[in-house]
Amino acid sequence: MLNLRRGLAEVRSNRIGRTKAGGGHRVLSWHVLCVLCGVIVTLRGADPPRFDSSRAYEHVRQLVAIGPRPAGSPAIASTRQYISAQIKQLGLRVVEQPFDTETPIGRVHMVNLLVTIPGSRKERLLIGGHYDTKLFRNARFVGANDGGSSAAFLLELARVLKDRMNPLTMELVFFDGEEAFNTDWVDPDHTYGSRYYVANAKRIGTLSDIKAMILVDMIGDRQLNIRRETASTPWLTDAIWASARKLKQTAFLNEPLRVEDDHMHFLEAGVPAVDIIDLDYPAWHTPADTLDQVSARSLQAVGDVLLDALPAIEARLLQR
Ligand SMILES: [Zn+2]
Repeated sequence: MLNLRRGLAEVRSNRIGRTKAGGGHRVLSWHVLCVLCGVIVTLRGADPPRFDSSRAYEHVRQLVAIGPRPAGSPAIASTRQYISAQIKQLGLRVVEQPFDTETPIGRVHMVNLLVTIPGSRKERLLIGGHYDTKLFRNARFVGANDGGSSAAFLLELARVLKDRMNPLTMELVFFDGEEAFNTDWVDPDHTYGSRYYVANAKRIGTLSDIKAMILVDMIGDRQLNIRRETASTPWLTDAIWASARKLKQTAFLNEPLRVEDDHMHFLEAGVPAVDIIDLDYPAWHTPADTLDQVSARSLQAVGDVLLDALPAIEARLLQR
């Protein structure tokens, strides 16, 4: 946007200058047009659209309206339809990665959703988040923040990244089955989708193409507090926190916090990974995790910081 404003200011001053000098109007307007075209081409090439949190928030609203969306439910199948339709509207495509897995409630059908956005190189930077919500048999849990915010964030990120010059191929992954079926988080009853994704990538020999993984989880809390997840790869965390500092996004705190999440399987497989998560959320895993707990401002903060950090992350990955 800055480029456009600067460009337009130049156009305006050119027009005033030329008119005063008494040049031909037709020549002048062609000149203005060409400068404008140049500005627009530069814009498309260098600056992607800004992350629009009002769009992201609307996605959260739509997801919450579907209701509880636990892995294996008809509602999560509807959620997949919503995500696929939104991605298709962008001119992109969702590839489904289905699998069946044993869980404490029996065998469950799960599906990761993969969206590839072309880049200059085939090596990939993966940005992921989960889209399932935790199963509660005796309560209505719609997971506005936990499951909703991450999926909504990825949808808006797809819109931004498809118009960006990506040095690496971007892969957005909507993970299924992040949540444990049991009340407690006991191995291996959690992160089913990311575990399957990594195992599959190993099996088909594509794991080495994934240069880094960035995970977002519960990033919509209206009282956003994101701590440095201590198992995450330090240089990746540093790159993101440097952007937060630069943009004066004070929700990114310099306090440590250990969280097990979908990034673990990537770390264990040797892929640099970072978890951007706000676990300081009173409504966490309660029926109070509803739309009113989520704010567009928080989604905007994370969107701005992540997009600002991407060039430094990509530069580091391209050096390797
Ligand atoms: Zn959860």
